[in-house]
Amino acid sequence: MTVTKKQFQAESKRLLEMMVNSIYSQKEIFLRELISNASDAIDKMYYKALSDDSVKFNKEDYYVKIVANKQDRTLTISDTGIGMTQEELEDNLGTIAKSGSLAFKKQNEAKDGYDIIGQFGVGFYSAFMVADGVTVISRAFGSDTAYKWVSEGVDGYTIEPTEKAEVGTDIILKIKESTEDDSYDEYLEENRLKSIVKKYSDFIRYPIKMTTTVQKPKEGEENEFEEVQEDETINSMVPIWRKNKNELTKEDYDNFYAEKHYGFDKPLKHIHISVDGAVRYNAILYIPESTPYDYYTKEYEKGLELYSSGVLIMNKCADLLPDYFSFVKGMVDSEDLSLNISREILQQDKQLKLIAKNIKNKIKKELQSLLKDDREAYNKFYDAFGRQLKYGMYSDFGTHKEDLQDLIMFYSSTEKKLVTLDEYVSRMPEDQKYIYYATGESNERIEKLPQTEMVADKGYEILYFTDDIDEFAIKMLMTYKEKEFKSVSSGDLGIEADEKETNEQEEKENKDLFAAMKEALSGKVSDVRASKRLKSHPVCLTADGEITIEMEKILKAMPNNEHVKADKVLEINVNHDVFNSLKAAFTSDKDKLNLYTNLLYNQALLIEGLSVEDPVEFTNDICKVMV
Ligand code: ADP
Ligand code: MG
Repeated sequence: MTVTKKQFQAESKRLLEMMVNSIYSQKEIFLRELISNASDAIDKMYYKALSDDSVKFNKEDYYVKIVANKQDRTLTISDTGIGMTQEELEDNLGTIAKSGSLAFKKQNEAKDGYDIIGQFGVGFYSAFMVADGVTVISRAFGSDTAYKWVSEGVDGYTIEPTEKAEVGTDIILKIKESTEDDSYDEYLEENRLKSIVKKYSDFIRYPIKMTTTVQKPKEGEENEFEEVQEDETINSMVPIWRKNKNELTKEDYDNFYAEKHYGFDKPLKHIHISVDGAVRYNAILYIPESTPYDYYTKEYEKGLELYSSGVLIMNKCADLLPDYFSFVKGMVDSEDLSLNISREILQQDKQLKLIAKNIKNKIKKELQSLLKDDREAYNKFYDAFGRQLKYGMYSDFGTHKEDLQDLIMFYSSTEKKLVTLDEYVSRMPEDQKYIYYATGESNERIEKLPQTEMVADKGYEILYFTDDIDEFAIKMLMTYKEKEFKSVSSGDLGIEADEKETNEQEEKENKDLFAAMKEALSGKVSDVRASKRLKSHPVCLTADGEITIEMEKILKAMPNNEHVKADKVLEINVNHDVFNSLKAAFTSDKDKLNLYTNLLYNQALLIEGLSVEDPVEFTNDICKVMV
């Protein structure tokens, strides 16, 4: 038989060029594609055996083998699958975008459970990204002759008969020479090849063997080693997510977490999902135990690994996780995804959206049950990621607050530990109108805040807000179980009318004194008032209106917010001895009143954790009182 060179079809030529240069974002995926084809070829034998009793399928006989030869610069991927006839070589490899596997799938539609990966008929050509010549030697099942298909790229291919002892296919790549810009040598390195197989093809159902060089002790001689060639299976084959939950132990899940490098910690909890509904998928998700070092930075990338029929499609599919659950690690495998030609996931994929929604609800449910059943673990989780949940409540204009309100916790003044809003509300005495909170740098500092005195004295529980985001998140929530949130520093505390009356009386009586004090502070506060919340402390600072002092602090620390200002109010405890001194100064010595007022104001600033505007003046003022 004469060997004639055949041209690729015109479209194929252009497509091949495009393919090699642009479809795949990474060169290394050529190996994924060739292994997928080999796996498909073995699958086809398996299905043949299912429908034809004369065909036996002994598992040991079916495998993929990778051999790298540095001297010849060849990389061979062999399989013991169904092979290709001369026509099939022409049809499937001579025409780009023709998928024999897709045709096979269609023919066998009736049969259940097939896992055939191929569908676009382009994967094979990715070999040309790393090879300048590809030889395919194949012997089809049921045929005595083998054929050799050879191509050096765009200019076409040749086919001729050849010898091959076993049924199956060898794909021999002539790896390109490295250039200054691109290194190809790595595709001849055992370790590099192994890691590519692990990354993309770890869960191919048949063994992927590689001949590797290992150091073995020399027989009969101590401390002497020799290099031996050994066949090693490098993939784990059975995906843990396809196994039955009952077969798996916590250790299995922990091992998978470590193997996958999801984190250096041990997972706090795993979630194994198998869904067989409108969209079919398996997933293994983890809630890590500790915060990754870069978690609260821009560098952190959320996402889950995405597999399609056991083959890795995407390392970090961000669309699968909402931001507020960005700490979740793990993977999803689905046969139902619509992939594009480079086997990447299509954005806006309907199935993907369905899966994402499903996953979100599962995570929420799991966290809720963790909260209910294992508070200690939940506290650990909350310590690591609670802030993210609160951010989630605030972000997107509060769209997710319903999902999150039962997952957040705050430190409680009475329980001395983190409590949920539900727990707080269920403890509220009947006469308590609001959910009270106080903001500050730490629990210890809030504990000492004068503003908390009255509310605490009433026996009401106060939630301590120590994260920047807390008050903003709560503002977004507005109410919980119809109860409004109220800062202990806010104007109307909603406590007891009788005290309010006495207060109004004090206010009236001392109207002129307060006016004089306000003037002494020349615009630094919008009002000076008799306090309704102080008991033992002489003074405190609160705010009228929406922006609290804590919010002002936080907003001012962000760019372009210098103008943000809380409407500050200086509150005076009229039952404190200091008040008598103020009254006395008001009638006898205006300078003294000025001095006292400024001192008290600066004290109030310090208690709030704000800095004194003029520390030198402040210390001079203190000295004036001493002498
Ligand atoms: P796809 O896998 O999407 O079908 P490919 O370009 O990867 O597309 O492969 C094209 C076709 O070539 C496959 O559908 C299959 O029919 C055939 N083929 C490729 N590799 C092998 C192989 N190792 N054994 C048998 N057939 C193969
Ligand atoms: Mg393929």
